[in-house]
Amino acid sequence: MEREHLEWPFFEERHRKLAAELDDWAAMHVHDAHGDDVDATCRTLVKQLGQAGWLRHAIAGTQHGGAADVIDTRSICILRETLGFHAGLADFAFAMQGLGSGAISLAGTPEQKAAWLPRVARGEVISAFALSEPDAGSDVAAMACAARRDGDHYVLDGEKTWISNGGIADLYVVFARTGEAPGARGISAFIVPAGAAGLEIAERIQVIAPHPLARLRFNACRIPASNRVGEGGEGFKVAMRTLDVFRTSVAAAALGFARRAMAEALQRATTRKMFNQTLADFQITQTKLAQMATTIDSAALLTYRAAWKRDSGRTVTREAAMAKLAATEGAQQVIDAALQMWGGLGVVSEQTVERLYREIRALRIYEGATEVQQLIIARELLKGMQA
Ligand SMILES: Cc1cc2nc3c(=O)[nH]c(=O)nc-3n(C[C@H](O)[C@H](O)[C@H](O)COP(=O)(O)OP(=O)(O)OC[C@H]3O[C@@H](n4cnc5c(N)ncnc54)[C@H](O)[C@@H]3O)c2cc1C
Repeated sequence: MEREHLEWPFFEERHRKLAAELDDWAAMHVHDAHGDDVDATCRTLVKQLGQAGWLRHAIAGTQHGGAADVIDTRSICILRETLGFHAGLADFAFAMQGLGSGAISLAGTPEQKAAWLPRVARGEVISAFALSEPDAGSDVAAMACAARRDGDHYVLDGEKTWISNGGIADLYVVFARTGEAPGARGISAFIVPAGAAGLEIAERIQVIAPHPLARLRFNACRIPASNRVGEGGEGFKVAMRTLDVFRTSVAAAALGFARRAMAEALQRATTRKMFNQTLADFQITQTKLAQMATTIDSAALLTYRAAWKRDSGRTVTREAAMAKLAATEGAQQVIDAALQMWGGLGVVSEQTVERLYREIRALRIYEGATEVQQLIIARELLKGMQA
């Protein structure tokens, strides 16, 4: 993958080294890793990523096998951008290990961290993040799934949907209503192991770009009170802190997809002969390529600005929202333009541009849809301006 942007002042030498090593490794191990059995591919990818040490970046705490004590946003962005370039499922497998275990990294007890994080980092445990519900997606505080205290236990009842890794995960971090206060202040986070009695995979969901995804049902699912992550009523905060770490990395994944589309476009445009020249010789094509490259650089600047600022300990609410918005929407345009250059071949199943065209779509919806990012940016701008 092209790495000129790593010369920007956002990065340190360790980031350039990480990117170079990962790029070589990914080209050998996960290049276009897809295939028919998406569950098996994801399981293999998690193992490979764990054994090679890449998952260490997805968790916090060197004593638990993490690469650092605090998750380095630039590192996870480089990982997602590079893996996204090589294979969307590899990016997915990496990202979900971090998102799924993020609540434990950020708010877990020493015992919870010791029990789960080393295995997540080694790729021995597959993790999932269960927040959304059929009637609580963008409006997540409307969640209905409930956890009732019963002595030394909590009893979970309700549903979660769109849960990535649902069906193959070993560890679900589940957010449920515990009722300390109305709305967002009455939610807590829980560790629910896959084998817990009363947890059922109610439905496997097939999506435009296949990856493991499920609706979960909790039917009097009893878990020890010690599985609660963070204080009672603090679950919404824990979920938002987790998303805050990973939102910028969604932009980075989109960037990786867009860079791959650009590489495919350049390759096709410079070799496809027509009208006694190549497709790239036409100025209409050159205009498109120029726009694509500018969109990619704009997205990269916004993404790594947010990552760098976050790593320097500052709040990045506006910057992360801008990065996700610009990178995911921009990548969709870049991929669409690349597919157009491939002509009929571009819509053939499993062509790289065809796969990218499907893979980018959900990134504009999950972890806060584009419209939600726009609201966040506007809210930040208007803070203190209105009477
Ligand atoms: C492939 C995939 C993987 C996912 N993985 C996970 C996961 O692992 N864990 C998890 O908990 N969830 C996951 N999700 C769920 C995801 O976070 C939700 O789909 C998302 O939050 C949107 O919720 P919704 O689907 O209910 O859409 P809705 O909330 O119904 O929103 C529909 C649309 O309305 C628009 N919209 C939303 N808010 C506003 C507004 N204020 N003003 C104007 N327009 C608005 C947006 O265009 C949005 O797309 C995943 C989703 C997908 C598609």
